[in-house]
Amino acid sequence: MKCLGVIGGMSWESTLLYYRHLNQGVAARLGGLHSARLLLHNVDFAAVAALQAAHDWDAAAALLAEAAQGLRAAGAQGLLIAANTMHKVADAVQRAAGLPLLHIADATAAAVRAAGGVSRVGLLGTRYTMEDPAIVQQRLQQLGLQVIVPDEADRGPVHRIIYDELCRGVVTEASRRAYVDVIGRLQQRGAQGVVLGCTEIALLIDAASSPLPVFDSAALHAAAAVDWMLDEETTA
Ligand code: GLU
Repeated sequence: MKCLGVIGGMSWESTLLYYRHLNQGVAARLGGLHSARLLLHNVDFAAVAALQAAHDWDAAAALLAEAAQGLRAAGAQGLLIAANTMHKVADAVQRAAGLPLLHIADATAAAVRAAGGVSRVGLLGTRYTMEDPAIVQQRLQQLGLQVIVPDEADRGPVHRIIYDELCRGVVTEASRRAYVDVIGRLQQRGAQGVVLGCTEIALLIDAASSPLPVFDSAALHAAAAVDWMLDEETTA
């Protein structure tokens, strides 16, 4: 099993989900008492969120690059950034570490395509992810998907609920209803599935609550990482 370096803490609420998915995924493949060989660098999310809000992506890249270099020095053979938004700096992190980086959009697009029948997806995420095509949208498009994002009036509440509630472990029925309504409006605009393009959204929305098929980027990213850890032939 290859050793995975996880850059987490963005937020730790979703890193918990990754930790569970990675360990359960390895156990499902290998059985018995097997668990994931991984190293976790958990950042202080307050510092990252402040850099995001200031649009200081260079400083954010430096912070994650330092984490990545530490993971490499500790024995990681590949890296995963456990968030969508911080894929804004994925290339810089990969260059700094000199390790394969398992990109969240690659894992998500592969799963949407494998599901079949879904070519136009709605994308929910932070305002950065919904408004900056370079974070994940372009990569999803290059991998064959049409991507639509909520209208401006919906992007505000979707973003606010992530930072003010989900990243703090707060899950409310009112916010779930708000997200379901946003997904419904994406459906009216032709979306055939919804990408949970923020790793905390699975705390709020699942297949049962969503009017559209759900593609949870965190779960799909972790599943791709399990394949990478266990499959000799797979390269990032
Ligand atoms: N975890 C989130 C994401 O997947 C949002 C928090 C962050 O900005 O990193 O984008």
